[in-house]
Amino acid sequence: MDPSTGQWDECLVRDTFCAEDARHILQMPLREGVHDFVAWQFDSKGIHSVKSAYKMHMELKSMRKNGGVGRSTAKAGNLNTCNDDSWKRIWRLPCPRTVQMFTWRLRHESLALLTNMQRRGLKVKSTKCFFCGHADEDGGHLFIKCKSVKVVWRELALEKERRELGAISSVHAMMDYLWGLNILKRMQILTFWWMWWSARNKLRKGERVLTAAEVARRTRSSTLEYMQVFLPEPKPQCTDKWRPPAQDMVKFNVDGAFVPGELHAGWGAVARTSDGEVVGARAGRQELIQDAFAAEAVALSNAVSFASDLGIIRAEFETDSQLLAEAMDIRKVDSSAYAAVIEDTKYQLKL
Ligand SMILES: [Zn+2]
Repeated sequence: MDPSTGQWDECLVRDTFCAEDARHILQMPLREGVHDFVAWQFDSKGIHSVKSAYKMHMELKSMRKNGGVGRSTAKAGNLNTCNDDSWKRIWRLPCPRTVQMFTWRLRHESLALLTNMQRRGLKVKSTKCFFCGHADEDGGHLFIKCKSVKVVWRELALEKERRELGAISSVHAMMDYLWGLNILKRMQILTFWWMWWSARNKLRKGERVLTAAEVARRTRSSTLEYMQVFLPEPKPQCTDKWRPPAQDMVKFNVDGAFVPGELHAGWGAVARTSDGEVVGARAGRQELIQDAFAAEAVALSNAVSFASDLGIIRAEFETDSQLLAEAMDIRKVDSSAYAAVIEDTKYQLKL
């Protein structure tokens, strides 16, 4: 740290650490007059435990092994720095974990299809499809080309998509195709494939399975249900009117802008009286910003300083970031990488 500015001594940090570590260190916000503390953001209470460390270790291992597969437990400043975003898309699919897991296995070609098992040297009696008994069971046959599965595609009115998928030969290209479809079609296909895979596993054990028409019917209803339950509520339209503050108060509307992949962010604040008269506005750019949460936190911090510069004591601050509003809650202790900025802003606001 540079004692004169209270900020990181960038040259010293860059000279001492490797480029990657230096980048992470410089992204950590600092706060003057506060003792260093150990923060562990991978636990909701900020307490380090062997259990949470083990969980994180397993997630990192899984991410490395599978080109980025894992699940971050942190709301802000998470581990999610992998460039391949297909895993993130899978875990964000609006469906139960079982369907996501199935999709993940499909994407990583780890479904125990008979031809896959044989290729890996496992003994299989036959590689013939459980549904038709004619062709060898591989992903293309089971999910797209088998005469039994074609019935489901027809029932779902997705014959065009079936033919287009049938012409694709790699799993990567198949996933790209699915991501390119609208969300309803994508969810219908993945949900039906998951049901079809479950039916196949039952058939393998000699159990009774659903008819193709029944699979199609259940796919339709389940998909709609999933989308209702798992899709986030649409954000209220921006036609929301600006609500004036109480008499003799000044309201600061604050916003931070962050572009993923860029290491900086923009922020802006507008101050208005209860009559809607603009008292002042300020905007700026902040370097070394890691995510949208940090951009919002920095925006609020700057807005509070702005209010202080204007000499405004009775001020109200409005942000559209739910996470930030939660972090500013005086009852909660923030243990993310932005704890310093949050606590500093709370202090300035005398919360
Ligand atoms: Zn078949």
